[in-house]
Amino acid sequence: MWKYIIQRLELHHPFRISRGVSHFRETIRVSVEADGRTGYGEAAPNPRYGESIDGVLAALDTLNADAFQPDSLRSVLMSLPQLFPQSPSARAAVDIALHDWWAQSLDLPLYRLLGIDPARMPPTSKTIGIAAPDEMARRASESAEFACLKIKLGTDQDREMIEAIRKVTDQPLRVDANEGWLNREEAIRQIEWLAGVGVELVEQPMPAARIEDSAWLKQRSPLPLIADEAVTNPSSVSDIPEGYHGINIKLMKCGGLFAGLDLLTRARTAGLQVMIGCMVETSCGIAAAAQIAPLTDFVDLDSNLLISNDPFEGHPLIDGTIRLNNRPGLGVRLIERGVEPLR
Ligand code: MG
Repeated sequence: MWKYIIQRLELHHPFRISRGVSHFRETIRVSVEADGRTGYGEAAPNPRYGESIDGVLAALDTLNADAFQPDSLRSVLMSLPQLFPQSPSARAAVDIALHDWWAQSLDLPLYRLLGIDPARMPPTSKTIGIAAPDEMARRASESAEFACLKIKLGTDQDREMIEAIRKVTDQPLRVDANEGWLNREEAIRQIEWLAGVGVELVEQPMPAARIEDSAWLKQRSPLPLIADEAVTNPSSVSDIPEGYHGINIKLMKCGGLFAGLDLLTRARTAGLQVMIGCMVETSCGIAAAAQIAPLTDFVDLDSNLLISNDPFEGHPLIDGTIRLNNRPGLGVRLIERGVEPLR
């Protein structure tokens, strides 16, 4: 009843961040079928967190009937960290598929089952990857429907990029340096400059391991600092308030919706702001994160828009905000456009 295939996702533009560039990405689609319903999930393994497609496949090869018990799904969800300790994205895929199946079996949208009000959805940012400054400005000018733009920085041309974008738009900007500023003096100089040009927050300015430097930076930063690479599983939240004002939750880092809600609760308990983000994922992974996005402060769920062959149809983006539909489960439909199973 469990099935999975690799999906090769073609990108509209090469996607560059401070660590490197991608021309396409692979994710793994997981499905669980029972009682005439199919629940879908997705794993988007990221090498930054020690994951690979082969690692996820090896983890999923161990799935058996124990991972589907319709009357005790919560027990299964709780067992996933023991089942796949090294693969949070494999946990996420199984967790998402189980949540989709569970809500479908009750004929409810998942957000309703979780008690989440879709009207509280914050607008999503649109991500602009690293490119030549004029190319980044061109992409910004094509993104007028979004309430804010998330600009990838962490290069030696950061100011030129922001200046070029500022020539074409007054939209609020968020900046993600992806650990790209390597010393704290450089980081604070950049952040102080960014605060003066309409940037509202900065994500992961310095390498995640630089905890003392992050604390130094937080004491001086005029902008909120959001931890992304520095936050993985729920237990990692305890170190965050020293160096950051908030965290970026991604289902692929923490292992799915069950862990994501736990992480969200822990973040709120610690007084942290919360962003919900994504890896490069199809509308399936995005739909899963969108279910809990109304509980967060900042939404960054746009990677399905980077893909030219999205195999799923999900929730519409209306005036820059994801509007959750009222279909049962995740609310997605498999449409399978040009995604070939590789093995
Ligand atoms: Mg980030």
